[in-house]
Amino acid sequence: HKTVGILGGGQLARMMVLAGAPLGLRFELFDPAADACGAQLAPLQVAAFDDEAALAAFAARVDVVTFDFENVPAHSARFLAERVPVYPNPDALAVAQDRLSEKTLFQQLGIPLPPFADIRSRDELAAKVAEFGMPCIVKTRRLGYDGKGQFRIRSAADIDAAWAALGDYVDRTGLILEGFVAFDREVSVVAVRGRDGEFRAWPVTGNWHVDGVLSASLAPAQLSSAQQAAAIGHARALAERLDYVGVFALELFCRGEELLVNEMAPRVHNSGHWTIEGSETSQFENHLRAVLGLPLGDTRMLGQACMLNWLGAMPAAAAVLGQPGGHWHDYGKQPREGRKVGHATLRQDDAGALAAALEQVGAQLGRADQVAPVVEALRR
Ligand code: ATP
Ligand code: MG
Ligand code: MG
Repeated sequence: HKTVGILGGGQLARMMVLAGAPLGLRFELFDPAADACGAQLAPLQVAAFDDEAALAAFAARVDVVTFDFENVPAHSARFLAERVPVYPNPDALAVAQDRLSEKTLFQQLGIPLPPFADIRSRDELAAKVAEFGMPCIVKTRRLGYDGKGQFRIRSAADIDAAWAALGDYVDRTGLILEGFVAFDREVSVVAVRGRDGEFRAWPVTGNWHVDGVLSASLAPAQLSSAQQAAAIGHARALAERLDYVGVFALELFCRGEELLVNEMAPRVHNSGHWTIEGSETSQFENHLRAVLGLPLGDTRMLGQACMLNWLGAMPAAAAVLGQPGGHWHDYGKQPREGRKVGHATLRQDDAGALAAALEQVGAQLGRADQVAPVVEALRR
């Protein structure tokens, strides 16, 4: 029995552990956060991510290491990689951790993206805002997630406000300015690459965010087949350049026929949670197969699936469980404002049935707003 080590013990680790059980896998989780939800499944080694003594002991206990958390220090990933196979490789992780390096790579690969610039001073910010035009958006280069560490500039007066909010991060995380994309919709490619270079992608997923946090995903996304192929082609080019092994996500904006890349996530992704029930092989199972060098599973889906994220606290399960094709995931976390505590997936054979199921669940849970954009897309 192989033992997989996971850096980070959140819900992604938890879902990997659940997917690994039928494969006979054992797991060791490494997370300094005492309230990580993987604690329900496996003993947790409480240490800092860069505690080398703890990392060395961890490496000795596992056959392969992977990530639930993308911001593990790259030097810690490299330290582990000297002792045990680490997938994705630490260089790929380092690129994906830094918006400037990932966007530079997208550009080198000829993948279209909004204009961007490294920002080191208030004057440079003002000059680049003038060049890109407003609105535009300042982000920390590193450590941002769920829309944190971002400031939108809508008018000249916002330049000082943005600098007051984020100027301190120039030395800590770096800053980047991006052109704002007035997108019609957002999509993501969730894909997997094996140790032997085999590449597979799930159908492109449509995503809706509220305040920078994923609220709902719909698969397949309603894209032309040319756009689907282009998005998956970008993901493949990126994975090959990075010699990436495992599952990753590529987030894109659609504006008319244009596709612009936003960012990549070097791990299983929230917009791929629907694959647990909606696809022949889930992203979690295929990630494990990839990092262990096993054959990859089929990524086709049956029908259509919608995932709804639960933030803050879990709603009652009955409305979803009462639906044919309704599935429930409670991560077992303590409720906290804005925290991802669980999700539901609804799967149906066709768009009309899925829209009807979503409307019923939205009404029963008092979440009509959350399901409305998905229902509208399904009925369009
Ligand atoms: P994640 O949790 O996905 O890692 P993040 O903190 O890395 O989020 P982004 O994905 O860059 O942040 O931004 C969050 C959301 O904000 C995007 O999904 C999109 O809805 C919006 N957004 C970000 N950048 C832009 C942009 N340049 N133009 C328009 N909208 C944007
Ligand atoms: Mg991100
Ligand atoms: Mg994002």
